[in-house]
Amino acid sequence: MELARLRNIGIAAHIDAGKTTTTERMLYYTGRTHKMGEVDDGTTTTDFDEQEQKRGITIYSAAVSCPWKDHTINLIDTPGHVDFTAEVERSLRVLDGMVAVFSAKEGVEAQSETVWRQADRYEVPRICFINKMDRIGADFAATVDAIRNRLGAPAVPLQIPIGAADDFEGIIDLIDMRAIFATDDLGAEVEERDIPEHLLENAGLERQAMLEAVAEQSESLMEKYLSEGELSADEIRGAVRTATLNRSMTPVLCGSALHYVGVQRMLDAVCDYLPSPLDMPAIKAADARKEGVEHSLSCDPAGPLAAMVFKIVSEKPVDLYYARIYSGTLKASSRLLNANTGDKENISRIFRMFAKRRDQLDRAVAGDIVALIGPKGVLTGHTLCDAKNAFVLETIEFPETVISVSVEPKSSKDRDKLFAALRALEKQDPTIRVSINEETGQTLISGMGELHLEVMVQRLKSDMNVDVAVGQPRVSYRESVSGTGTGRVTFERHIGGKDHYAEVELRIEHRKHDPEQANTEIDNEVTDEEFPQSFIEAIKLGINEASQSGTLGGYPVIDWKVTIASAVQREDQSTELAFETAARMAFYEAMREAKPVLLQPIMDVEVVTADEYMGSIMADLNSRKAVVRETQIRDEDRIILAEVPLSAMFGYVTKLRSLSQGRATSSMTPLHYASVTEEEMRALVG
Ligand code: GDP
Repeated sequence: MELARLRNIGIAAHIDAGKTTTTERMLYYTGRTHKMGEVDDGTTTTDFDEQEQKRGITIYSAAVSCPWKDHTINLIDTPGHVDFTAEVERSLRVLDGMVAVFSAKEGVEAQSETVWRQADRYEVPRICFINKMDRIGADFAATVDAIRNRLGAPAVPLQIPIGAADDFEGIIDLIDMRAIFATDDLGAEVEERDIPEHLLENAGLERQAMLEAVAEQSESLMEKYLSEGELSADEIRGAVRTATLNRSMTPVLCGSALHYVGVQRMLDAVCDYLPSPLDMPAIKAADARKEGVEHSLSCDPAGPLAAMVFKIVSEKPVDLYYARIYSGTLKASSRLLNANTGDKENISRIFRMFAKRRDQLDRAVAGDIVALIGPKGVLTGHTLCDAKNAFVLETIEFPETVISVSVEPKSSKDRDKLFAALRALEKQDPTIRVSINEETGQTLISGMGELHLEVMVQRLKSDMNVDVAVGQPRVSYRESVSGTGTGRVTFERHIGGKDHYAEVELRIEHRKHDPEQANTEIDNEVTDEEFPQSFIEAIKLGINEASQSGTLGGYPVIDWKVTIASAVQREDQSTELAFETAARMAFYEAMREAKPVLLQPIMDVEVVTADEYMGSIMADLNSRKAVVRETQIRDEDRIILAEVPLSAMFGYVTKLRSLSQGRATSSMTPLHYASVTEEEMRALVG
């Protein structure tokens, strides 16, 4: 496989814009699925999970290879539901380009906007596909305007639709100036014709607008365009490719996935305009052995190996590890280093995954995305490499969980099964945490929202066959400090015939929250070179352990910086155990002095409703202490954007349904943690 002909892409869309249908068509045309699946009868290929089919939303990312013409497209599924933003971020890390699907009727919707901003942050080149041109109310020009105005994208249509809604017939390709129609039922055959006479004038104008945008990309093109008034198809494609890669242009295509129009041209555009792994900048990797040393790895099969596992899918009999190879060549039957844990891992087999089959490979090279079997201790975000070149690729930071439910096995023989299933869940979805409440002995699953947990519990019950009793969902609180404090502890004990001595002084202060980074930091001011590094490590361990349960209510402590101000040892009497214990005690002492605060998750909530329900929905939101940030009007819909404490949002979906006779919809995603009021704090921690 030639790397220049490889595309790693994702498809992003608001729910119901047609992502699943479009994906399904792509898989069909690329010849790998033999039966065209239909979303509405639940037989599509990427939504293999039963849960997803029932809910009609794509939650889990999977990667599928599809050969198209002389290219290979690796399609990385990105979830369409706002509750799963972390999954979107994760897929953005491994893809090189994106197709954004919009509905020609609804235009740019909230979720497309969220994903678009995320893609901006990762500097992902994009093309747009305006779907559902056949629907009543479809408006190509308005959607292009919205892409320009709401998303701020330099959108340039390379096609225009022939008709709209019931009159939608096909598309006009403005580069080749041809009219394109689907001929047979499934659109596998595409018919190209001359542009019908009555459409020629408008098509000419649209082409001119496109040519001007293309000519602006370089001086030589502008010169040629000004002198000859024309550019060749090759010149246009070349310039559009360059402009898409440097994100000074966003090509826009259109069609109707449901009616088999436009998808093949979109596949062509993926190959023509989106980047190959060779177009991507070198990636930064930390040296796993030398602190502070950074390497730059380019996409070179002959380079040192670095591959990141971005998704683990539980399968019988063994798990599949989806990995992107950034540098070097990965071989089957090899033994590699997991640079994050320092353990050796076996890679027994490598697969290229297609929608309905898999091919076994001997090797896979930089740029590619493949599935592996064999590793045992690898988690999402870990880097696999050769033992002699140990790299750690920047791992994926996952947000704090905000909500939890208790799960108890119905019978004692289910207990082991439950723990195995929970471990599998945790491995597959890194935004899930499993923990045991030390006081009550209850097992807790924590996640990103009510729907997220509902889906997880459902998977436990139906996919994994574990019979569990599920408690009420509870808010996950956090603790932090609002001031600064110092803790100074001298630990001196005689245990089991041995002395344990340590003296530790710690300073704690508030650290501003940064979603891009770990939310805690330890700084060491002990500069004495004689002082053993192993004692410093023991102090850090003590601090980290202590921060797992704070002084207010035993909740994890976040957003802090601790400085090890001093540490004193005594010859022959100091031990790691003593330093770890002293650090733990000093942490609590410092925290008590630093005005501890209780934090609660605040959710970003969006409600879409018809105007007539606005009043009652707003009143209800107010009673939930919502801070309404903005209201918008979009066609007939009203949109409310608000920030609301999660604790006030339980069962909101049901309430909203009754307030709006089932016609309003909502979505919510964790925004940040904020202090609770004094009164709430007293109620929660006494
Ligand atoms: P997703 O939520 O973005 O994955 O969207 P789906 O592919 O599940 O599509 C949502 C609904 O829109 C389904 O009922 C589809 O049949 C329908 N749909 C998808 N594409 C089109 C289209 O091009 N035209 C029309 N009229 N309906 C479509």
